[in-house]
Amino acid sequence: MADCCSQTGLMPIESARARLLDSLTAVDGTETVPLDRAPGRILTRPIQSAVDLPPGDNSAMDGYAVQYADLSHRKPLELIGRAFAGEPYAGRVNPGTCVRIMTGALVPAGADTIVMQEQVEADAESIFVSGEVRQGDHIRRRGEDVGRGQELLAAGTRISVAHVALLAAAGIGAVEVRRRPVIALLSTGDELCQPGETLAEGHIYDSNRIALRAALAEMGLEVLDLGIVPDDRPAIGAALERAAREADAVITSGGVSVGQADYTRELLQELGQIDFWKVAMKPGKPFAFGHLMGKPLFGLPGNPVSALVTFYQLVVPALTLMQGGRWKGPATLAAKLLKPLKKKPGRTDFQRGSFHSDACGSLLVEPVATQGSHILSGLAAANCFIVLGRDSGNAEAGEIVSIEPFRAPLG
Ligand code: AMP
Ligand code: MG
Repeated sequence: MADCCSQTGLMPIESARARLLDSLTAVDGTETVPLDRAPGRILTRPIQSAVDLPPGDNSAMDGYAVQYADLSHRKPLELIGRAFAGEPYAGRVNPGTCVRIMTGALVPAGADTIVMQEQVEADAESIFVSGEVRQGDHIRRRGEDVGRGQELLAAGTRISVAHVALLAAAGIGAVEVRRRPVIALLSTGDELCQPGETLAEGHIYDSNRIALRAALAEMGLEVLDLGIVPDDRPAIGAALERAAREADAVITSGGVSVGQADYTRELLQELGQIDFWKVAMKPGKPFAFGHLMGKPLFGLPGNPVSALVTFYQLVVPALTLMQGGRWKGPATLAAKLLKPLKKKPGRTDFQRGSFHSDACGSLLVEPVATQGSHILSGLAAANCFIVLGRDSGNAEAGEIVSIEPFRAPLG
């Protein structure tokens, strides 16, 4: 297939991605943000825990703290006090005694086992334990979650809500993260109209910019939204220059193909440099990458599915790197294809599909009803890409194919 691709000038997607990643670096600058504003941001340095989690042995149940050795005597235990979460019992559980204990309360000195209250007959002064109890039952051990000094998160981690919970539990209130890269975003096209406005004859709503803005925000990036720019060379040129001056990277949609009003690529060539502009992928062949005033520019195709697929497959890895994060690579699974798919060799195909597992746990994938680079309902109905390799042809029903479940910011 190398021949086919060099003939048509299409760059394999793997090479395109590698070129992008090679030519980009993380932006400089850091800031400290409170935890609730940390999701999506990238940690600048590793974080160690200054505490044990849990900080002390505590009860996993509402029950009674006892000495296990006492239970074999099958005698009542004297109730000597109570331990609540946040209000420990100050004394000691000696042989023949017990302490009423609530979930989360520190296990009193001397006790080695918690008996859950369902296994206890209690009166005001004593309890009697029945049923099976094992030594050490229902005690959450100091440090069993995280030990003091343990690394909680590595540098370069993209902070998730689960990470926020972990950091908060370790008493960390703010974290140092990379500065957010500013991404300038613009749509080109005389036909475009802002959602919410009345649609004139021959116009369509600009869906790309809104979707991309949402995706960029979800990735923790700052957006400089330059709106809709008409198919007018000076207007696009001015917008591109402003974008390159004010932002760390520029994303455009439309105007990178070979039509008469496709100025973006031409202008990139004139005002900056094009690195490559045709990728052996479907949808998304007319994707342009280059630099303008030293800033990377990603020229996405106008067709809405193509715009989002190229954004997800090529721009997300690039922006992740600019954020200082690590792009993990596509997460692929194998699934049985339920319907045949037509394909010509020469481009990697990202068909939209919906996968689920059958009763035995095997993955099945069904292509959405209509493929097509303008079929947004198909993208919206999908939960994965069905990835057909560059050199492959048609795929038959029953074949095992590679799928990529959608992840954020697409899923
Ligand atoms: P272009 O790449 O500019 O030739 O556009 C290809 C197709 O995508 C055309 O049908 C455009 O109308 C459509 N298109 C371009 N930009 C957008 C946009 N921002 N939102 C939705 N559709 C678009
Ligand atoms: Mg256009």
